[in-house]
Amino acid sequence: MESLTSNEKLRYSRQIKLPEVGEKGQKKIKGSSVLIVGMGGLGTPAALYLASAGVGHIGIADFDSVQISNLHRQILYNEHDVSAKKVEKAVEKLRRVNSEIKLSVFSHGVSEENVKEIISGFDLVIDGSDNFKTRYLLNDACYFSQKPLVSAAISKYEGQLTLFQPRGGGCYRCVFPNPPSKAGNSSCEEEGVLGVLPGVMGLLQATEALKYILQIGNTLKNELLVFNALEMTFEKIKYCPHTDCILCGDSPDYSQLKKNIESCQPMGLDEEEISVDQFILWQKSGVQFRLLDVREEHEREQDFIENSDHIPLGRLEASLGSLEKHGILIVYCASGARSLAAVKLLREKGWGKALNLIGGIRRYRAEKPLNT
Ligand SMILES: [Zn+2]
Repeated sequence: MESLTSNEKLRYSRQIKLPEVGEKGQKKIKGSSVLIVGMGGLGTPAALYLASAGVGHIGIADFDSVQISNLHRQILYNEHDVSAKKVEKAVEKLRRVNSEIKLSVFSHGVSEENVKEIISGFDLVIDGSDNFKTRYLLNDACYFSQKPLVSAAISKYEGQLTLFQPRGGGCYRCVFPNPPSKAGNSSCEEEGVLGVLPGVMGLLQATEALKYILQIGNTLKNELLVFNALEMTFEKIKYCPHTDCILCGDSPDYSQLKKNIESCQPMGLDEEEISVDQFILWQKSGVQFRLLDVREEHEREQDFIENSDHIPLGRLEASLGSLEKHGILIVYCASGARSLAAVKLLREKGWGKALNLIGGIRRYRAEKPLNT
């Protein structure tokens, strides 16, 4: 294990003081290596704090240049940096923050060709990217290389965070088997984002990384943390590894990293059911699906789940012509019995991605009451 110089003992003394860290923990941090992919709103605060905390080797990967519209959230850069390569400016600043750590720069970002080799040099990966292609790519590469991945995403006033741990946890494809719809897939550029939001989420990524390195506390394995800045709420949603996940499931479609990740979408859905937790997670994340209510008219008058179509079960077979066959179709009723019958009928008739909402609207309202 690494040893600490007297200068390091002084520098990190407030952190060493924590009984869970101590000199032993600080040596672990010194001996650790973290790769940060994307030096934008998430990556810059994460890098700054991990460098300050004494992570011995930090890799930064990004191909982009600094733009004036980045400055409200990408706090490592200033007005003089506009037009310069992000990684060059970032490494300059980080070196000034901590000259005793090793910094590696990957100025072409990550791609199918280089990702495996790049991540092989690090203990943990932080995903600070802003697009789904990179998220799926990092997820798959980390899965095959057995590296923990701290993943975060931001949009407008809301951020999400989780840890995908090698062995015994789900992966990004378990949570998001299909890329979110166009609405949920847009970037900060299209949707806008409150400047501090990526800061909060990037620091939470750094926190999760440090805890993982130190092996202290509870990690976000199999839990998605959702932060809403307008409501000032933190919410945790549990997710499960999916047995039919094309990457980490029982009979995966992948045995190695696929070229052209986008063309691998969308995946098949062999399971006929979806839990309320997973459903809420998809709703929040903009996963593209259609929703069908198969209850009677009088039940629908009482309450219904927003954005759902309505065809009572008794009329479903006769109305199939009006239902689009493409994409995921989630079916619900009061408690899940009628919708299961509907899903069986739909699958028989060629709707291969029809899913029954387990527990129906009753369980959904138990999780998400009206007017909250
Ligand atoms: Zn998976």
